[in-house]
Amino acid sequence: MAAEQSKSARAPLPVSDHQPAPYDGPSREEILNLRREYLNPGIVTYYKEPLCIVEGHMQYLWDEKGKQYLDAIAGIVTVSVGHCHPKITERVREQVGKLVHTTTIYLHPTIAQYARELARRMPEGAGLQTSYFTSSGSEANDLAVLMARLHTGRHEVVTLRNGYHGGSQSTMGLTAIGTWRYPVVAPAGARHVAPGYCYRCPSGQTYPSCDMNCAYAVEDVIRYETCGEIACFIAEPIQGVGGAVVPPPEYFGIVYDIVRKYGGLCIADEVQTGFGRTGEHYWGFENWGVTPDMITMAKGIGNGAPLGGCVTKPEIAAHLADRLHFNTFGGNPVSVLQGLTTLEIIDEENIQQNAKEVGAYLKDRLLELQDKYGGVGAANQNPDHKGAAQNQNPDRKGGPLIGEVRGLGLMIGVELVKNLQTKEPAIAETADIVEQAKTRGLLLGKGGLHGNVIRIKPPMCITKDDCDFLTDCLDECLETVTNRS
Ligand code: PMP
Repeated sequence: MAAEQSKSARAPLPVSDHQPAPYDGPSREEILNLRREYLNPGIVTYYKEPLCIVEGHMQYLWDEKGKQYLDAIAGIVTVSVGHCHPKITERVREQVGKLVHTTTIYLHPTIAQYARELARRMPEGAGLQTSYFTSSGSEANDLAVLMARLHTGRHEVVTLRNGYHGGSQSTMGLTAIGTWRYPVVAPAGARHVAPGYCYRCPSGQTYPSCDMNCAYAVEDVIRYETCGEIACFIAEPIQGVGGAVVPPPEYFGIVYDIVRKYGGLCIADEVQTGFGRTGEHYWGFENWGVTPDMITMAKGIGNGAPLGGCVTKPEIAAHLADRLHFNTFGGNPVSVLQGLTTLEIIDEENIQQNAKEVGAYLKDRLLELQDKYGGVGAANQNPDHKGAAQNQNPDRKGGPLIGEVRGLGLMIGVELVKNLQTKEPAIAETADIVEQAKTRGLLLGKGGLHGNVIRIKPPMCITKDDCDFLTDCLDECLETVTNRS
């Protein structure tokens, strides 16, 4: 009876007023068969029964049968202001009817206007005003490292363990999550240093008594493992694929100082953290009080358009003009229009403020779940939460536990473990929860080296009602998986 009551008290999925069009395309099974026959098997799908999504509106998606879902991962952190946002749709429709492509060999207004608008959103006085557009984040990172090498005349790069910077051969060498690396020589010349991942501190220390050893250790890596003259340091302000890893506030300040002491440029990979997602600031790096020399972006930049970019100072950008360099689709009139309109909507609809407010609300609700399914550590993160002990509920059978809830704004991770002391990753349980959530109409992401971090990075137009559904749904999934163990 008590269980029945708690079930009925759970917040439902808010019903969208958008009516999806009836779907009359090939069936899910037909699509699956086509994919199996004609697509590279490396193009993976989520879920045991892969989901077929045929329509989207703002924070919601629909499958071919008309079932509605809350999209809590936004096409992997890419849909910033809402699926098929009406303003973007209207403008893009008009542009597609006029001109789709010519390349940058001719003048077109939008690419130049867009570059100006991006420059206007950079920190005052940073000198970050020169853009180069690409179609993806991997290309943007590849280009940033190339420009850093040309500018410094050096080769070696420092980057963070547990970081993701792309899947091309060169950016794979920057990426330091083993599951994303193939057994080939990745030609990035990169050294990987420890990120500020306190929950899994490699030296088993605790912040702040650790005295930020992980950050100061970067100097030894440069002195011992490089020639002492580095081209650059590239890092995500909050690690995305690595599982929403938020470093201590002083981490980046210490590392940037060391990198600059050895002559390197600092590159912020804002592919996931940019455009207001972290709430308090427009750019992720601003949370840490540092200013990079170059910023790379993609994903959320274009609300789903194949658009990426690298913004830097004119003197660093200048070196690219020493040879011929070309990117066929970079700055395409359709994708930059989509980027430009996304910037406008972020301002007009207070998207950053929503990420801050709704993100804080969601994190608070998830910390309540941590009280129920874990507890230890919650008190450190939020004084309002008591940090209930693991055995608070004597009926618990000991299923997955919430080891940590972390993140800023609408970039949140929930790390699941089997044991709060050993922190053994709850791998199968995380996969099970993500499956369960799908059945209930909630689409979540997974991340971290072990795939045991639930990633929540929805379109930034999400509401508190959506967050109530999300949290209650996660609660139900955790309960179901716990009762099974
Ligand atoms: N940097 C980061 C931080 C990313 O998350 C990603 C994609 N997951 C990339 C770079 C690569 O972007 P793309 O897939 O567009 O090449």
